[in-house]
Amino acid sequence: MITYESAEDLSLKIRHLQDKSLKVSFVPTMGGLHEGHLALMKLAQQKSDVVVVSIFVNPTQFGQNEDLNKYPRTLEKDISLLETLDIDILFTPSVEEIYPSNDLESYELGFLDTILCAKTRPGHFNGVAQVVNRLFDIVHPDIAVFGEKDYQQLMIINLINKNRKDDIKVISHEIIRERDGLAMSTRNQYLSFDDRENAKKIYQNLLGIKTDFLRGIDLDSSIKKAKDNLSQFSKLDYLEARNSKDLTDIDNKTDEIILLCATYLGETRLIDNLIFRRKNV
Ligand code: AMP
Repeated sequence: MITYESAEDLSLKIRHLQDKSLKVSFVPTMGGLHEGHLALMKLAQQKSDVVVVSIFVNPTQFGQNEDLNKYPRTLEKDISLLETLDIDILFTPSVEEIYPSNDLESYELGFLDTILCAKTRPGHFNGVAQVVNRLFDIVHPDIAVFGEKDYQQLMIINLINKNRKDDIKVISHEIIRERDGLAMSTRNQYLSFDDRENAKKIYQNLLGIKTDFLRGIDLDSSIKKAKDNLSQFSKLDYLEARNSKDLTDIDNKTDEIILLCATYLGETRLIDNLIFRRKNV
């Protein structure tokens, strides 16, 4: 594995590989790697000749009172995981390398930046847009891989990518979970013993809503029941059902529904989602 800290050197290297007709894929991360990240990388390996992984904790996507300073930085462990997977290129830029000027662009993200996580984390998706645009400018991969755990982020990245018009193919990977169903997340390590025990109930409640719905039980009432359950051990931010295609509200014709949830266990904000098809549609 070759590690680059310089954006210019990395760009040159990748152009050189692409000139030789090698297909390059890219997996951006903030480090604190776990099996969820590794699944994205394995998919990238299947789809391309060269895999580039970035580790960069992007300050512009963290709000004032969020966990930027305590976000896990585990570079040595991350590097050994990447080496086990035989990743080709690692990019570990400094903040100055990603944002050489303080004059940062502001992006118009429309409807997607008004719902769900955008309400509680104003400016978060603008920060995501800044870093993804900058990373795409540097790496210019043929393929970029993102996880469906951050579903709203994935929709926003699809929008950014459509606006860029430079032919990067964005693909996604389903959520990787712990054995008890909790969606893997770098932030899970913040959880106390009791909160970690309770955290598995997030997915259990999403599954409960799906099961109820497929049995013909009214969606609103099972969402209400799940909200009550989640509120017993966490401070619920949102739990909503939306159209998985574009995160608009569902109606009778919506064939694929996504349940999306964000909740605080102590200080730790966890998100999860579950997609299912309506029966007989
Ligand atoms: P992060 O390092 O948290 O910014 O995540 C980097 C990438 O990994 C993003 O595309 C995430 O959606 C993805 N990711 C994080 N956790 C999971 C998971 N449990 N399953 C699938 N993808 C994930």
